[in-house]
Amino acid sequence: MTTQSLFELEQTQDFIRRHIGPDEAQTQAMLNDIGAESVDALINEIVPSDIRLADLPNIEPSKTEVSALTDLKAVASLNKVNTSYIGLGYYGTLTPNVILRNVLENPGWYTAYTPYQPEIAQGRLEALLNFQQMCLDLTGLDLASASLLDEGTAAAEAMALAKRVSKNKKSNAFFISTDVYPQTIDVVKQRAAMFGFDIILGETDDVVNHDVFGALLQYPSATGEVRDISELIAKVHDNKGIVAVAADIMSLVLLKAPGELGADAVIGSTQRFGVPMGYGGPHAAFFTTSDKYKRSLPGRIIGVSKDTRGNNALRMAMQTREQHIRREKANSNICTAQVLLANMASFYAVYHGPQGLKTIATRIHRFADILAHAANTKGLTPLHGSYFDTLTFNLSEERKAEIVARALAKGVNFRTDVANQISISIDETTTRDDLFALFDILFGEDHGLDIELLDAEVRVLEYPSIPESLVRESEFLTHPVFNSYHSETEMLRYIKKLENKDLALNHSMISLGSCTMKLNATAQMIPVSWPEFANMHPFAPLDQAQGYKQMIDELGKWLVELTGYDNISMQPNSGAQGEYAGLIAIHKYHESRGEGHRNICLIPSSAHGTNPASAQMVGMKVVVVACDKEGNVDMDDLRAKASEMADNLSCIMITYPSTHGVYETTIAEICNIVHQHGGQVYLDGANMNAQVGLTSPGHIGADVSHLNLHKTFAIPHGGGGPGMGPIGVKSHLAPFLPDHALVTVNEATKGNGAVSAAPYGSAGILCISYLYIALLGRKGVTDATKYAITNANYLAKKLSQHYPILYTGKNGRVAHECIIDLRPIKAESGITEVDMAKRLMDYGFHAPTMSFPVAGTFMIEPTESESKAELDRFIEAMVCIRDEVRKVESGEWTAEDNPLHNAPHTLADVTGEWNRGYSIAEAVFPVPAAAANKFWPTVNRIDDVYGDRNLICSCPATDTYKD
Ligand SMILES: *Cc1c(COP(=O)(O)O)cnc(C)c1O
Repeated sequence: MTTQSLFELEQTQDFIRRHIGPDEAQTQAMLNDIGAESVDALINEIVPSDIRLADLPNIEPSKTEVSALTDLKAVASLNKVNTSYIGLGYYGTLTPNVILRNVLENPGWYTAYTPYQPEIAQGRLEALLNFQQMCLDLTGLDLASASLLDEGTAAAEAMALAKRVSKNKKSNAFFISTDVYPQTIDVVKQRAAMFGFDIILGETDDVVNHDVFGALLQYPSATGEVRDISELIAKVHDNKGIVAVAADIMSLVLLKAPGELGADAVIGSTQRFGVPMGYGGPHAAFFTTSDKYKRSLPGRIIGVSKDTRGNNALRMAMQTREQHIRREKANSNICTAQVLLANMASFYAVYHGPQGLKTIATRIHRFADILAHAANTKGLTPLHGSYFDTLTFNLSEERKAEIVARALAKGVNFRTDVANQISISIDETTTRDDLFALFDILFGEDHGLDIELLDAEVRVLEYPSIPESLVRESEFLTHPVFNSYHSETEMLRYIKKLENKDLALNHSMISLGSCTMKLNATAQMIPVSWPEFANMHPFAPLDQAQGYKQMIDELGKWLVELTGYDNISMQPNSGAQGEYAGLIAIHKYHESRGEGHRNICLIPSSAHGTNPASAQMVGMKVVVVACDKEGNVDMDDLRAKASEMADNLSCIMITYPSTHGVYETTIAEICNIVHQHGGQVYLDGANMNAQVGLTSPGHIGADVSHLNLHKTFAIPHGGGGPGMGPIGVKSHLAPFLPDHALVTVNEATKGNGAVSAAPYGSAGILCISYLYIALLGRKGVTDATKYAITNANYLAKKLSQHYPILYTGKNGRVAHECIIDLRPIKAESGITEVDMAKRLMDYGFHAPTMSFPVAGTFMIEPTESESKAELDRFIEAMVCIRDEVRKVESGEWTAEDNPLHNAPHTLADVTGEWNRGYSIAEAVFPVPAAAANKFWPTVNRIDDVYGDRNLICSCPATDTYKD
């Protein structure tokens, strides 16, 4: 019999030790190397005592996976998932199970990073290229990006593009049709107010009566009308205006493409291509435009280039890290977007193909036709004779109330926000039974209607519900990729084939500095596909969404506790969106005190590129504050600038610990100086993984922060999104948090504009962060921080024997990440940081963050989730690479003929003729660990310059593939 207590036996269920990589023995070994007594002693050395919290955060103790999931299931079951006909950009959809399990629920796809290292990301780059091709074909334009955050923000980006490219330079006005979705209008109006554009809101026909730099129309309209807008577009063009069209992707399968009607930009959501509604997101928005605007396109473009063998190879074109390079001149602040969801939508198109999509869209349209015909028969005439999937009925309030009550009794939601009106949007999930239920609701149970009969009548009707001039004639999805994988076996293998090309967290650590690629626990992912969460429409009546409300409230309460703020807004759906929302709050706060003129935003030179890009979006003027040679904010420069600009100082945007990986001891003083001069402190929360439980932005003295839930709080990166960027604020900023046009988020902020299309952003993935906190509890979330710091210091210590660590704190320690300086190597040997990044692939690793925040460096963040064993493998790789560099330095290998310059190595290299100055084994199995778990990049080094000079953002013809 064991003498262990029951309590000890129960430790097998403890999640904390599953989340944290190093066990006790490994931790001790690391501490010995670091030269610290204990983890706590190390933390005390590193985190300045004056900002430390006295106690553990006041959240519940950790739960086991079983109990956390059981408890969350009970919360989820408070959601009542009605059949939704609300529409407005969110529709029921059937996620093909082969995509659900093998993409959405597959860590090979969801744990990947943004494809900045394209040689080990060809799989998701191909899926994204397919996404672009799908958008190009359906919208009828020639340049697409992949992808944007949601339809509302995509529309706002279209307005910004219109301003940049319109030749009507004298107008400051942008027209929005009242036929646009209300939440889109809300987001665009807010954006316009911040840019200082005038908004003209009018009926669609009214667009020709105004002198505008651009206009936004909806096709089909919010009430479902399908009408020819080509003449209106032409008239706006006569006046040098740019026309953006918000379009429904499914309708475009049957309708003439907006590009063919003259639209300059087409935007919309790809949600209904197989991505669950998730109470508002995450979903990928699309954006297509004309090739001539390629320098102005927001977001990332996937382009086709060549590798060193001359083979086609994919990469992110032009705007790679565009904010980092162009900062306040960037086209937009979009960084994390929606790659996982774009991939799902593109796989949906691949799986169904053009024929399958036609069938789906035609079936939806037929249901709408039958419903319209039935309604006409019953004397209830739809508002529009032309429609795709949405019928609107004008009714007396009395009749409407009756119908809505009957609908609710049958578990059905209509769109009801317009007085005397209901709208019904049919979708792919609608069945005959559903249609029958709709008849009962609309016409009473003794309606006597027969679906077969109605169908037969509809097919011979004289008045087509899609005008002849708007019937799609052009072909779409003709590329072989959309015509090859229609059986499940073929599809399964196609998905797997692409997955195999990508390195994700299920292969090895991805030590992306500032991006916190920690464990995305399986238990945390499971509820994402629970129907109670997945199938909820964002505008469903609140009494049906009580499960979501409870989860969001509880998560909000925890985040308040962990940030030291007073209020949280869950609306921003990325970190950059959070910055935008936070800066708006600051601006409106100043305005409320009669100081709306304050427009200077101080930003240290080490800041992330989204900071200046966001500041620019709210009309602020960026003033850069210098950093000293230790990487800290230059306090003299800060004092001088804050005082010189005191009259107009709006805020500072500062990251803590700094992007240099150090806890600046002057942080409290920085806050004081800015406050003394009337400014607010925006603390970029991307590095919260070095704060949780030990200190907090609120405690430090900041006023507002965003949290990257996809960094600190375990939402996976999805290969470049989704993410969530909720903001925390002190109470004085709370009145200026975002609201929503259709859902009251908070009585106190009613009427404030929105920053995202959905009231709680990408609510569908909040369960991940919720479970992260529930599973770790107060001790676990704090331990996570401590081990993140311990792991980083172990790495820094070990690597410091081979590479200079660029910045450390006073005692030689780093925070949760460290920067190694590769510039001396380049000066000595000519080997660049890029060579080293590519060489890491041969060792089976993804490179750390390259050249941010300092050019010619790696920023390495191991996170708490990596074990000592994995850290040692990475260290070994880095040490071996340093030795390889020495062989170039010593002349043993020439500058051209060495494994660094030629990295990464592929199977094509080693199966062809080999006549290099190093062996095949040195090339591809440089250490036993790499051989034992070999990852083969599928392309050789990709030519960036070629790709940008010859921009191709559509699927290349099959015969252009060399091998
Ligand atoms: C990741 C990051 C951001 C931007 O967040 P997104 O979610 O990608 O928009 C901003 N600041 C810093 C320091 C970051 O690391």
